[in-house]
Amino acid sequence: MIARLNHPDYDRWAAQIHRTGGCRQPIHLRGKVEHWDRATGGLLHRYTTRTEPDGVLRVPCKTRRASRCPACAETYRSDTYHLIRAGLIGGKGVPETVTTHPTLFVTLTAPSFGPVHAHKDKNGKALPCHARRNAETCPHGHVMACTERHSTDDPRLGEPLCPDCYNYTGSVLFNALAPLLWKRFADSVRRHLAKLGDLALKDLRHHLTLSFAKVAEYQRRGVVHFHAVIRLDGPTGPAFPPPAWATTDALTQAIQHAARAVSATVPAHDDQPARVLRWGNQLDIRPITLDGDLTEQAVAGYISKYATKAAECVGTLDRRINPLDNLQAFNLRDHARRLITTCMHLGALDELAELRLMDWAHMLGFRGHFSTRSRRYSTTLGELRAARERFVHTEEVTHGRLPLFAEDTVLVISEWEYAGKGHSAGDQLLAAALSGTQSGGLHDL
Ligand SMILES: [Zn+2]
Ligand SMILES: [Zn+2]
Ligand SMILES: [Zn+2]
Repeated sequence: MIARLNHPDYDRWAAQIHRTGGCRQPIHLRGKVEHWDRATGGLLHRYTTRTEPDGVLRVPCKTRRASRCPACAETYRSDTYHLIRAGLIGGKGVPETVTTHPTLFVTLTAPSFGPVHAHKDKNGKALPCHARRNAETCPHGHVMACTERHSTDDPRLGEPLCPDCYNYTGSVLFNALAPLLWKRFADSVRRHLAKLGDLALKDLRHHLTLSFAKVAEYQRRGVVHFHAVIRLDGPTGPAFPPPAWATTDALTQAIQHAARAVSATVPAHDDQPARVLRWGNQLDIRPITLDGDLTEQAVAGYISKYATKAAECVGTLDRRINPLDNLQAFNLRDHARRLITTCMHLGALDELAELRLMDWAHMLGFRGHFSTRSRRYSTTLGELRAARERFVHTEEVTHGRLPLFAEDTVLVISEWEYAGKGHSAGDQLLAAALSGTQSGGLHDL
């Protein structure tokens, strides 16, 4: 740290850190960019990292996971927020008439895999977790009741009343099959809509598009729920309304039907028979209104918040687990450890090989994307990023860092190589102080 502070290029290093937006684990790049005049063959401009601090350029890691880099995850969260919101009220290329399309906020849940400790409240007052008169005692000697009033930060929330009775196998298999269940759900909604519109399924797309944006949320007990904005558009997307028969009621009916109808089967394995998995009984379908209980801001905020979270809230690890890792050394709570070891155990079975449970043990079996959108939902993250990069480019040009060339008269040659990642311990402290990502400033160091 002292070496960095006293180095003559400290200011330039600090400027690089500023430009990464406080990224905790910036990527280091080594390379050059040259601008050549096509007509004269003359070199117009050259940028090389050779003169940068440590001979590298630091760029943001762009992770979406808040546990790895809060600053980059915040960029991802805010982009997601704007694109979810544009799909609800228009903007960023989506016409405002989209507000007239049938649009619902839907939550698809996981079934129960055994009773778990839960925070319950009524009008802000905590209620007993599992109050049961004449509660049964399980074969392991646990009384299947809990009269405690758990606070929202109680570490036992989501943990089973009896871990030995809890269906760990069902829990990780549900996570593993949740993406397939979602796909079957969406197909079933389309089929049901086609029926309501008296159309063949293959003709549906000439009449309407089912557009959605969804996010997976880990419950404390370690299974995923899906929250989704589901909207009906005309055949080309949000620019045109769906046909008159495709109403909010029709969409509600199709969703209710599909959530009950679909299933996914896990093949028989070990000494276990094949099992059929379905969504849980709790299905929440709510209209999104500009002035009602569930506003477009609330929905966009909700979805974008979960887009940067993974399974770490359950107390698992945010990186892949090696089969040779000693799980005891990670200091995991018993529930997370059992979910992980169940993945490792099932992942070793040939019958379940295609679920790749070993690779996704740290995600408790779930290998889907956290946050996905159908093609026509609204603008894309890529477009939002490109717009931001164009803005930065213009800024650099106006501040004289980059020369302004007519693009077709200039040949751009760039060469980049990966040269590492992250900060040294001293740099980490300095970077945190510079970008204000942790409390305290330079004077506290
Ligand atoms: Zn980052
Ligand atoms: Zn309890
Ligand atoms: Zn038990």
